[in-house]
Amino acid sequence: MGDIPYFVELAQALDICKQTTLQTTVERVPLNESHNRILAVDLPSLVDDPPFDNSAMDGFAMRYEDTVDVPAKLEVIGTIQAAGQEDNITVEKGQAVRIMTGAPIPNGADSILQVELTSTENNIVTLHQESMKHFIRKKGENLSKGQTALEAGTYLTPSGVGLCATMGHSSIPVVKRLKVAIISTGDELKQPGEELERGQIYESNSFGLCGLVNWLGHEATRLHCVGDTIEDLRETLNQASSEHDLILTSGGVSMGDWDLVRKIMEEEGDLHFWRVKLRPGSPPLFGTWNNTPIFGLPGNPVSSHVVFRMLVAPWIRHSTRANGPIENRAFAKLATKVKPTKDCLTLRRVSIEITESGLEAHQRIHQGSGNIASMAHSEGMVILQPGCDYSIGDSVEVMFL
Ligand code: AMP
Ligand code: MG
Repeated sequence: MGDIPYFVELAQALDICKQTTLQTTVERVPLNESHNRILAVDLPSLVDDPPFDNSAMDGFAMRYEDTVDVPAKLEVIGTIQAAGQEDNITVEKGQAVRIMTGAPIPNGADSILQVELTSTENNIVTLHQESMKHFIRKKGENLSKGQTALEAGTYLTPSGVGLCATMGHSSIPVVKRLKVAIISTGDELKQPGEELERGQIYESNSFGLCGLVNWLGHEATRLHCVGDTIEDLRETLNQASSEHDLILTSGGVSMGDWDLVRKIMEEEGDLHFWRVKLRPGSPPLFGTWNNTPIFGLPGNPVSSHVVFRMLVAPWIRHSTRANGPIENRAFAKLATKVKPTKDCLTLRRVSIEITESGLEAHQRIHQGSGNIASMAHSEGMVILQPGCDYSIGDSVEVMFL
């Protein structure tokens, strides 16, 4: 192993990873393809939002001073339909205009009363209370033209994409998706749909990892499943490194003689650390293969997922300068006993219940790192500090799954 950092704290592991950078490039995509992508530039608004004063309610527009003595009766001089209908109506003293939500405010009017607080007979509207100035949405009150409303690095959520549209952008410069190769290793692995023979299991990690990569807005490719031979592994890593920005392997990073990912990285790769003080998920390694960054994730399905969330995702966000997708975290009260470990940051899968006195974390499922059902059936993972004692009722940090 020489001088390679071994069994490091999670924070140190992340620091080591951050010393390896990714080359990102920018591409322009149509607006509707920018969901879950990372904005590459500061994006200024091309318009004021709203572009003109408009009504926040279906109702009537009038001069506020005409409405202070209720019930007030005003003459209805016209209707302004939905937004987009420009009009030349001017509201004079004693007059009102019927108006729809989003429609431009007529000249002379300075307030709105919603339709349900009025009654109309012929062309006379009776107002049952005084009108409201705050039901006029003012030009530019949300954004002014030229203002940067989204900064480079913003992970584009549905409302973020809606904001891009509101600002007038039809296409968006985004960080080009990273191409991530996913390689599962192990002689025992069969594809779902195939017949299992004795000693074999279905390969599941690559599917979960693909979902996690997509969640971050990047492109995952499942390469073929590698058997436990150095030659096959070497060839697959060579292929993966020539065509991808990042390689994720699963399995083969523990202490055993058959843990070939660790072995090949020690002997032929550039290994930056091996093993992290994290449970589940202590075996991972990080380094480069032909200058392509590579994470060797553990084979146990829960462990590979945990290491992705705790180490790979933060590093990818850092490398792409992305502010999301955010990890949702909160504090919850322990409702059942949970077991920390002496020297590792320990994550236990829990159900989260929302109660009047706050969130409660219940550990209900057996916590084996091979038990992916424990992950699929849980809403969160409590994060337990090494060497600490936890009792029922203690407040602990939870990361939502
Ligand atoms: P390993 O680190 O290769 O010894 O794998 C640890 C455990 O995870 C073993 O029980 C493997 O069978 C299992 N495992 C390894 N890779 C996968 C995978 N891709 N999908 C599901 N289980 C796996
Ligand atoms: Mg294996």
